[in-house]
Amino acid sequence: MYIKKMITVEEAREYDAQDEFRQYRDEFFLQSGQIYMDGNSLGLMSRRAEVKVDELMDSWKQLAIQGWTNGKHPWFYLPEKLSAMCAPLIGAESEEVSICGSTTSNIHQVVSTFYKPRGKKTKILADELTFPSDIYALQSQIKLHGYDPDDQLIQVKSRDGRMIEEDDIIAAMTDEIALIFLPTVLYRSGQLLDIERLTKEAHKRDIHIGFDACHSIGAVPHQFSEWEVDFAVWCNYKYLNGGPGSVAGLYVNKKHFGITPGLAGWYSSKKNKQFDMSHTLDVEGSAGAFQVGTSHVLSLAPIIASLELFVEADIEKVRRKSLHITRFMLQLIEQELDGLGYSIGNPMEDERRGGHICLEHDEAIRICKALVAEKVIPDNRPPNIIRLAPIAFYTSYEEVFNTVQILKRIVLEKHYEQYGKERNVVS
Ligand SMILES: *Cc1c(COP(=O)(O)O)cnc(C)c1O
Repeated sequence: MYIKKMITVEEAREYDAQDEFRQYRDEFFLQSGQIYMDGNSLGLMSRRAEVKVDELMDSWKQLAIQGWTNGKHPWFYLPEKLSAMCAPLIGAESEEVSICGSTTSNIHQVVSTFYKPRGKKTKILADELTFPSDIYALQSQIKLHGYDPDDQLIQVKSRDGRMIEEDDIIAAMTDEIALIFLPTVLYRSGQLLDIERLTKEAHKRDIHIGFDACHSIGAVPHQFSEWEVDFAVWCNYKYLNGGPGSVAGLYVNKKHFGITPGLAGWYSSKKNKQFDMSHTLDVEGSAGAFQVGTSHVLSLAPIIASLELFVEADIEKVRRKSLHITRFMLQLIEQELDGLGYSIGNPMEDERRGGHICLEHDEAIRICKALVAEKVIPDNRPPNIIRLAPIAFYTSYEEVFNTVQILKRIVLEKHYEQYGKERNVVS
């Protein structure tokens, strides 16, 4: 008879001892006694990030206006430097990447560029489980064209409230669709969509397709260029540890180079022409064209540090550890939390899973408050989701083991009953 081996804390410690990311853990500011499981929402600060911010502050202090072209990180060229470092994370060429704007402003940028309703093709295809900001941006872009979003925005339905089936998305790619915009990884369930397949199917029907990679960048490798994804956007403050509200990212496939951005500004200009101050825009022939105004230099500083770590560690290795440690957590959840009202809401297959665990419980809000009291930092997505993200760079297997033990105790001993059911302002 096959007897399933129980996972023990010793096994967790063994994995930690062999962990090739062990050296990186000390690079991050972890609070003593705390287990941080929210790196999918706001990545931790690294020591290198602090150094880079200091260096950029110093260049402002010492160089003033000359900092644009002098010093350790000349500000004028910093976005391009970061684009080159970021490109391997999404499988693109440096010129296809731009580090600029915010996720939402970049959605406005790419949609205003690629949404060209004509004839029968007027609709945008999205999904019903995506992040609200993405939907608000799509609705306002549709309105700017004088249409009613209720008619023109098609949101593919989920069959189970957790996942979106690729077959259903493809079935919705009708001849009325002008543009498709989808998440790479769904922010609640952590489902990873088959980006390559969806892109192929969209292109067969002559539809442009783009992705929001906020929940996959830094956790999952991509091959956007090879798959010929038309465009993508992402933030740099989740798995990329770029700091709260840090500058975001944008990718545009090189076949679209030369296209005039929907939202142009002087930073859309060819760099060597920008200071000609002409009123005729000479558009940069790269994704750099999708910048609008002056770079947020101080907010770019931590991203230098973050991308340095990814360049060193290699995204394929990050993915390997992420899959291994999330699988470890899922096994522990199955072993320890049975019969306590918890269920797993993320896909179990590696190729359909992003970087976080979606744990569901009817008492999710109160359990999250109890977790924080026990110094475990999760996040909560209403109504019933506890998101937990063991991060390749800084989460240990032993912390994962302990987190599951605490989840068990909170329900078994009813600790959560001490807390109110109202959601915190930021959850
Ligand atoms: C985090 C996230 C955002 C946030 O957008 P901001 O403009 O950075 O506030 C948007 N969309 C998705 C899918 C996200 O995960």
